[in-house]
Amino acid sequence: MISAVPGAPLANVVLRTDALWEQMGSAIGGLTRGLDGFDSAAFHRTLDWDLARASAVVSERIDQVHDRDLRALIDHVHLGYVRDVVPVLPSLRQSVIHADLNDYNLLVDARAQQLTGIIDFGDVVYSHTVNEIAIAVAYAMLDAVDPLLTAARLVAGYHAEWPLTEAELSVLFPLACMRLCVSACMAAESQRAQSDNSYLRVSQQPIHRTLPALAVVQPRYAMYVLRDACGLAPVPSSPTVVAWINSHAPSFAPIFGRPFGEKQGDMRATAIDMSAGSPLLSGDAHENGAALLDARIARQLAEHGAEIGVGGYDEPRIIYDWESEPVGAERRTIHLGLDFSGGAGAVLYAPMDGTVHAFENAARHHDYGPVIVLRHETHGADPLTFYSLYGHLSLDSLDQLEVGQQIARGTAFARTGAAPANGDWWTHVHVQLITDMLDVPCNVNGAARASVRSVWRSLSPDPSTFLGVPVALSSPLPTNEQLLSARRAHVGGNVRLSYGNAPLTVVRGWKQYLFNERGQRFVDAYNNVAHVGHSHPRVVRAVAAQLSVLNTNTRYLQSQLTQYAQSLTALLPAPLSVCYFTASGSEANELALRLARAAPGARDVIVMDSAYHGHTTTLIDISPYKHGGAGGSGAPDWVHTVAIPDVYRAQAEIAGEPGAWFAADVERVLERLRARQTNSDLRAGGALLSAFISEVCPSVGGQILPPPSYLGEVYARVRAAGGVCIADEVQTGFGRLGTHFWAFERSGVVPDVVVLGKPIANGFPMGAVVTTPAIARAFDNGMEYFSTFGGSTAACVAAQATLDVTLDEGLQQHALQVGAELLSGFRALAEQHEVVGDVRGSGLFLGVELVKDRLTREPAPDEASFVVARLREQQVLVGTDGPHHNVIKVRGPMCLGSADVESIVRALAGALREMP
Ligand code: PMP
Repeated sequence: MISAVPGAPLANVVLRTDALWEQMGSAIGGLTRGLDGFDSAAFHRTLDWDLARASAVVSERIDQVHDRDLRALIDHVHLGYVRDVVPVLPSLRQSVIHADLNDYNLLVDARAQQLTGIIDFGDVVYSHTVNEIAIAVAYAMLDAVDPLLTAARLVAGYHAEWPLTEAELSVLFPLACMRLCVSACMAAESQRAQSDNSYLRVSQQPIHRTLPALAVVQPRYAMYVLRDACGLAPVPSSPTVVAWINSHAPSFAPIFGRPFGEKQGDMRATAIDMSAGSPLLSGDAHENGAALLDARIARQLAEHGAEIGVGGYDEPRIIYDWESEPVGAERRTIHLGLDFSGGAGAVLYAPMDGTVHAFENAARHHDYGPVIVLRHETHGADPLTFYSLYGHLSLDSLDQLEVGQQIARGTAFARTGAAPANGDWWTHVHVQLITDMLDVPCNVNGAARASVRSVWRSLSPDPSTFLGVPVALSSPLPTNEQLLSARRAHVGGNVRLSYGNAPLTVVRGWKQYLFNERGQRFVDAYNNVAHVGHSHPRVVRAVAAQLSVLNTNTRYLQSQLTQYAQSLTALLPAPLSVCYFTASGSEANELALRLARAAPGARDVIVMDSAYHGHTTTLIDISPYKHGGAGGSGAPDWVHTVAIPDVYRAQAEIAGEPGAWFAADVERVLERLRARQTNSDLRAGGALLSAFISEVCPSVGGQILPPPSYLGEVYARVRAAGGVCIADEVQTGFGRLGTHFWAFERSGVVPDVVVLGKPIANGFPMGAVVTTPAIARAFDNGMEYFSTFGGSTAACVAAQATLDVTLDEGLQQHALQVGAELLSGFRALAEQHEVVGDVRGSGLFLGVELVKDRLTREPAPDEASFVVARLREQQVLVGTDGPHHNVIKVRGPMCLGSADVESIVRALAGALREMP
């Protein structure tokens, strides 16, 4: 009936998004629905592959598994199965199922991320219905980065189509693990029988790699994750515990002996923000820990007249050893308790009757230090157990404590500790409720990964009511949905967000990293504005100090302006010695055009194809990237476009020396202009054109390094025609290329006007135009030049600090070295992946051009967007550029380091492998 089913076996598909798992789960749910009620005696048969027979199959064959580690794992899983699953089996629904939805039987359209077909109905059997999805989950988890989350997406899709019962959900994960054990046992047996049949072993390597990770997952935890995916309360008892606490709110004794409040004798508290974006953690406070934070918190408490700071439940934090894990690995950032900051030595009183469940001194750096767990019972018809944990206590809190000891409500039982004994943290107590200890003896995690946030909110519900903390002391952060809708309502639609439907929210920048609202760290390999690193302390301090003293305009004598003008011009070749300051790169390019027109003659300007020089009306006119693109209305008659000197794209056509060949395009424009000149033009003796403006190394044009001779050839022709040569160094200035401080130095030329922006002041609004005394004199024609913000005191200080750091930290040389590492990483990938057509650049100005075919060099823009989106998933930020939007642009702050090179190259390698 069917000759071919489209798609590739799931096992061969590298790209596996959440969307694929959910769609696949729902398709499998559809299969279950379709088979519901279908039956025939033929399906009531005994098959070794029937998961209902798993225990027998494993018992019969376990002796044939020779790998001792694997055998131990199988024994472990089997034991758990007998304990947790076997008793539940009689209550499970039964029906006819496919029974072998392994990763070679599920066919997938990798590009569309959809299941296209299911094959091999040889194992169809009447069995427990849940086995269908459990088997699919088993193979989906193989080699997954996070097997449990993969399982969760698949199960979520299935549940939406065919709702699972609570009993089914409770056994699904152990069933899936057991299926892998069955596979391993069957393979061991068949290997002895037919040792050359490799098909029988296809799944074995992935099973050997994955089973160890699955075997250590606490089965209840796995169930909670799956329940959460299905929209159920993750910990079934949690809502009841929370409801009990809420209904007993008045009964809890105040944790510090006095209620929180404003009345005489109350404990005066204020909210402390420790979230990823909190200014309390500005600069390197999150690295330099205890003493600094204590001082800052003490100041905040004093400002609010408070004795103690409260906050933090469900708060995303970056304070937990944020650099200890590589970028891309998810760290635990979500704080699961409440903090009481300050008050070293403050006595803690038990909020309700409890028993000492456990205690220890978790003395590792940044652990809890002394920590106590109390066990409590809700009273009533069906008492439930829950726990409260107190961490970062004083050492003497553990003296004379005994497990099992009763602690009555309102009894003093511990004291707030201080560094270093408290785990070397700032002075605070961490209090956390726990609804299931998950077999952890004492030291339950105080922070969770954001991807399982809702599971942990159920394992550790909000302790505010238990601790008598007023609601007013918590101020939730805006959600991404709220931010997006406010933005849609009040900000112009074409003020674009990156990453399409999944924009990135950022709350902090530090060095070469950006942090999102969940506290996840991204390598910023894209933003060259944060030249010396996001929030560089020297720049921040200099600007803050200046803003607190004076920030005004250029109409007064100020040393900051003249000092920066001197510093800047000292780095430029003669005769570039006169500066104008602006508030942006656009403003600077506008001014550059005015300077060029100060000389009498034509208005005409030559620009490079695909160039971008700014967003103002005139700059759109000279930016083919804009006026030639969507919404553009073409070049006006005074703008003449020449080819971009892109050796890679033009290679087939280039004849002779490439620089001269490209420069001939300028000559052709000049010839057209000459032909247009009238006799009266000639008599007036004016210039043929006003200016040639170009990015020395086009960035928007696709991270192009023109042939070094190009600019010399062009500038000679332009000057002969009376034109001014403008170098837009907005992207390339200040050492980015590594080899030179200014990109024009690569070509051995000196422009007449240099335009600077973006990185000049590390993000403070600033731009500059530097020109020759002659041009400056011609411009000084009686009309005042004034830019309100351009060259303001603080802007000059920001620019000076940025320049100083650039030189003091040797960032040009550093960029050259890191750029070389990146280039060699990218070139190695180009050897493995045909889609990489060209790798180019210098220093931290790099491009990776993707093509559909290396011979035709047909651009591959969709592939480039795919890479950018996948890199974001790996927490690496890059962008695309070039006229065909097929060049992956890598720039980033100049302090990117070798560890970041590894992250970037690893992420790119992953994205290229995943490309469908
Ligand atoms: N010139 C170039 C080469 C640029 O890349 C940009 C900004 N992308 C500008 C000028 C304009 O600078 P601004 O956005 O500060 O106005």
